[in-house]
Amino acid sequence: MAKVNPEFATELTKYGVGDFNACFNCGNCTATCALSTNDSSFPREMIRYTTLGLEDELRSSLKPWECYYCGECSQECPRQANPGELMMTLRRWLTAQYDWTGLSGLLYRSLMFTIAALLLVAAGVFLFARSTGFDAETMLHTGHRFEMLAIGAVFVAIFIPNLLRMWYFTIVKNGVKAPLKHYFTALSELFVHMFTQKRAKDCDNKDNFRWLEHFVLVLSYLSLLFTTVFLNWFGTGSLFIIVLGYVESFLIFVVTTHFVSDRIKKNKALNTFSQPSDWLFVIWLLLMGLTAFAVRLFIDLQLLENNLWMYIIHLTVLAQWALIIVPFGKWTHFLYRSFGLYFAKIKSMQKPA
Ligand code: SF4
Ligand code: SF4
Repeated sequence: MAKVNPEFATELTKYGVGDFNACFNCGNCTATCALSTNDSSFPREMIRYTTLGLEDELRSSLKPWECYYCGECSQECPRQANPGELMMTLRRWLTAQYDWTGLSGLLYRSLMFTIAALLLVAAGVFLFARSTGFDAETMLHTGHRFEMLAIGAVFVAIFIPNLLRMWYFTIVKNGVKAPLKHYFTALSELFVHMFTQKRAKDCDNKDNFRWLEHFVLVLSYLSLLFTTVFLNWFGTGSLFIIVLGYVESFLIFVVTTHFVSDRIKKNKALNTFSQPSDWLFVIWLLLMGLTAFAVRLFIDLQLLENNLWMYIIHLTVLAQWALIIVPFGKWTHFLYRSFGLYFAKIKSMQKPA
């Protein structure tokens, strides 16, 4: 028998806004959603589960990851129950459920905790800079090593265990007994969704510009990561790599500036209810592009040695991004959505009993 948590709806509101109690179950939202299918129907079912407090069913559901937040369901809802925002709120809550450390939930629920964590990391960077005697060469060298170490540590200590928890909740607890070959057969689904987000093209009134912006951002971000970490952008003398890094960081800056401007204007459904985690993600990504571009420019103009504050700012933004936003914040949606669609594909490959 399904377990009911009567406090669930109250708990969920800590992760976003929710007027879902206004829902009278008409089904308009599901009929409107371009991504909802007979086999995987949402968002009405998610609203029903939420109002009934069916926490376990929600924890084992992959449907919140199938939503790309075009907001059409919210526009069509006759009761202003905001089903699109509920799906977003569920994604935040699920992120906290998958995270074994509990930090993700704390960051989503408490702005004070988020600010304290950001300040703590900033203080750590300053103390590190002071310990080097503000020596540019040592700082650049250690900063580069930090990037590599942070990527490895976050993958091993956070992402792998959290993805295993996600797999346990959504596959094992759902009684899905998929043979190993299905995990290999469905792998293409994982990478296609991760790098192209192609389902988003069916959302948003076929607004391909939004999809294109996301696509450019994901590509620019991943390639800048590769350029700085593996091609040592700040230390290289190769003109090709230098120009490549400038182009990547410039594109990140342009797209994220547009995203910030949309959030300020609230001109789209997905920007109507921005939470601190949404602002943090987009602003820090913008700062990453901007400060990385500025540091390389200072190096090329031979200004960095006497203006180390620029590198300290960049390193602070980078450390906050790598230690807080990537492992515990909104960045994880990129990862969990891709795995959500991968697991959904594996489930769909099961023969009906
Ligand atoms: S959320 Fe709105 S559109 Fe969807 S079932 Fe409820 S009342 Fe109807
Ligand atoms: S926001 Fe868009 S994709 Fe998400 S449930 Fe609503 S209509 Fe579907």
